[in-house]
Amino acid sequence: MRIIMKFGGTSVKDGRSIRHCANLVKKYSDNEVVVVVSAMAGVTDSLTNAAKKCYTEQSTGFIKMFVAELAKKHYDAVRDAVDEPYRSRVMEYIDRLIDELEKVLLGISYLGELTKRSEDYILSFGERLSAPILSSALLSLGVDSLALSGGDAGIITNANFGRAKPLNTSYELIKSRIEPLIKLRGCVPVVTGFIGATEDGNITTLGRGGSDLTATLIAAAIDADEVWLWKEVDGVLTADPKIVPEARLIPEISYQEAMELAHFGAKILHPRALEPLIRKKIPVRIKNTFNPDTPGTVITDSCNSKTGIVKALSLIDRVAIVNVSGAGFDFAEIMSEVFRRFAEERVNVIMISQSSSELNLSMVIDRGDLGRAMKTLTNVDGWNGNVNVSKLDDIAVVSAVGAGMAGTPGVAGRIFSALGKAGINVIMISQSCSEFNISFAVSREDGSKAVKILHDEFCLSRGVEQEIKC
Ligand code: ASP
Ligand code: MG
Repeated sequence: MRIIMKFGGTSVKDGRSIRHCANLVKKYSDNEVVVVVSAMAGVTDSLTNAAKKCYTEQSTGFIKMFVAELAKKHYDAVRDAVDEPYRSRVMEYIDRLIDELEKVLLGISYLGELTKRSEDYILSFGERLSAPILSSALLSLGVDSLALSGGDAGIITNANFGRAKPLNTSYELIKSRIEPLIKLRGCVPVVTGFIGATEDGNITTLGRGGSDLTATLIAAAIDADEVWLWKEVDGVLTADPKIVPEARLIPEISYQEAMELAHFGAKILHPRALEPLIRKKIPVRIKNTFNPDTPGTVITDSCNSKTGIVKALSLIDRVAIVNVSGAGFDFAEIMSEVFRRFAEERVNVIMISQSSSELNLSMVIDRGDLGRAMKTLTNVDGWNGNVNVSKLDDIAVVSAVGAGMAGTPGVAGRIFSALGKAGINVIMISQSCSEFNISFAVSREDGSKAVKILHDEFCLSRGVEQEIKC
């Protein structure tokens, strides 16, 4: 079998975990395996903060401290994960990278300027540090391995720094770079997740959580049999166990359902990660690094598995609603102006609802984008005070997802009467034509309660297969 194995940040949180991951890879190394790895847990966040701090505070003392801590974290990991002679070699490599990072941060601090491009460059250090450690851990276990950056592996993107899109030309390139390694040399390439490069060689990132996308891109390029996403959870659950402790593992879920869940806040995988796989029907397995023998969840093409009307529930809190309303204007024109401005300001629109009287457009957006959204919609030339823009802060969006909802009458009725009985006020509703998803907005304090009520209503703690009898 040809398998792409991706290890997330928590799976490589320290040296012992990295060694454990290397052992897992070794166990399956009779197959053709390509490994994709995230930055060690917390590193990407700390790099983001450091970049911002250098730029705003211009403190060289902080930079010294930051790089020393980062270096220590990685040295410690090497000590626990890698044996000699690979240990000294990878230590040297880490030294060089840390040096480079320090210079970049000093540059940002002196210039007082942080562009999207330099931010991506800084963020790339997380994965560029973790990949050689995992690769050296494999070498220590006698598995031939080579660490590659996303760009080296052939992932070429556009120049949309921070959320770069891989170009179609990547597929051929990835194939030509990776296939010879796994076929001819029996080597396990360890590719940095999350990062790519533009055609002229600048490092880009694919958006937070982007290592999943790195894994699926490579899988599609080399026609892998499966993608395994190693995480710190057993698989996809019916709800967030922090909200519903009796949430159950879902053994099988379709691409469509998984994408709906990912878009609506369930942190299963990067929302765009399944796109490269759909045409080739390559299945994804979610497995627990620390509990490797549980079967986990399989995400496949077969969305006709209709067991369970509602399969899973997700919650996004920290969102807000922007409402655009008025009378006596061309609604299409207003809509296009709103979305053009949102695109320009990079306001992320999560959900839309429009009343059929055409007098009202409600949009759920990230709360962090609210200031920019409101600002760009005030004093628009041509609206002449006929359009009102208002906001509702402190909102949560709950989504009920399941392929079995399509064509099953009464699901929406069940959802909203259960909420009504519990005294939860629904502020906005949206159902996509796929009928795989019903989403609604409630006040933030009602969000978790709504998830619990629906989990009970659809008996999800009995397991999805049981739902029909529920
Ligand atoms: N390290 C990146 C992040 O934390 C990418 C990833 O983990 O997938 O977002
Ligand atoms: Mg991460």
